[in-house]
Amino acid sequence: MNVDVKAAPGSGPLLSGAPEIASVGVIGAGQMGNGIAHVCALAGLPVVLLDVNDQALDRAMATMARNMDRQVKRRIVSEEDRDDALARITTGTDYALFGSCDFVIEAATEKEEVKRDIFKTLVPHLKPDALLASNTSSISITRLAAGTDRAEKFIGMHFMNPVPVMKLVEIIRGIATDEPTFQAVLALARKLNKTTAVAEDFPAFIVNRILVPMINEAVYALYEGVGSVPAIDTAMKLGANHPMGPLELADFIGLDTCLSVMQVLYDGLSDSKYRPCPLLVKYVEAGWLGRKTGRGFYDYAQDPPRPTR
Ligand code: NAD
Repeated sequence: MNVDVKAAPGSGPLLSGAPEIASVGVIGAGQMGNGIAHVCALAGLPVVLLDVNDQALDRAMATMARNMDRQVKRRIVSEEDRDDALARITTGTDYALFGSCDFVIEAATEKEEVKRDIFKTLVPHLKPDALLASNTSSISITRLAAGTDRAEKFIGMHFMNPVPVMKLVEIIRGIATDEPTFQAVLALARKLNKTTAVAEDFPAFIVNRILVPMINEAVYALYEGVGSVPAIDTAMKLGANHPMGPLELADFIGLDTCLSVMQVLYDGLSDSKYRPCPLLVKYVEAGWLGRKTGRGFYDYAQDPPRPTR
């Protein structure tokens, strides 16, 4: 795998031929979509945020306001910048809102059919030179790009959770992605003050190729009775110096997303070592998706959260 890591602090010049991204659209207003809208708006870019669900849009605006307030308290952001950033965000459910966007990034549920439908609906509303990206954790960028009218202008831009805090953005070129699109997205990442790591378009790219099988293995350790939830998390926090235990992290990511990534790895690489743990499947079937639904490997109705096994 050809991996190229580029440290990209601050804003650098655009390579000739690379279009400038001066306005952004975000599809999906969940954990990731609101984080992407947050950092783009704070960087001075007008943002359109769309979801199928009006309540998700209201929640996203409230979450961004709360998270920016926290940044104001820590003196990372001024009150004026917070107010300007929030005023730059437009929300809605109508794809016509994307008509003037230079760049639209999809951050909806990690299901290929959902993402394919979104791009199909989106494309007729775009201006001809608009660039497209997916924030997918695992799905082939080449396949998603092939379902649009502009595979050469399509790229993977994989932010980490929580977006305002995490420094990394993984950039994934599909087979058809052209150099100006790649350069434009690198420049956008620099503008957002992120560091980029370039990954080839293989299932789950770099971060989740390594991280999610580890989480799946932690669920197997729980399933086979090797340890309890607190024992597994404490072991990895204090034994491997991880800031969060793997089960706590799985709840944070969302167990549905973890399962989808394992399924993409299992299907895409046809290797039994990526078999999703049956206990992970069961939690997702129960709707116990982690923090976002209030229950996963921990019960978040209690403070501190109570391990469920
Ligand atoms: P989430 O469940 O918090 O949010 C998904 C949002 O997508 C919801 O608001 C839902 O209403 C919306 N949605 C579903 N179908 C839609 C449609 N047809 N059109 C518009 N909106 C739709 O999920 P998330 O954690 O924000 O993940 C979103 C994407 O980001 C996934 O592709 C995921 O793999 C990726 N990602 C997640 C993480 C993470 O840690 N959670 C990290 C990096 C990337």
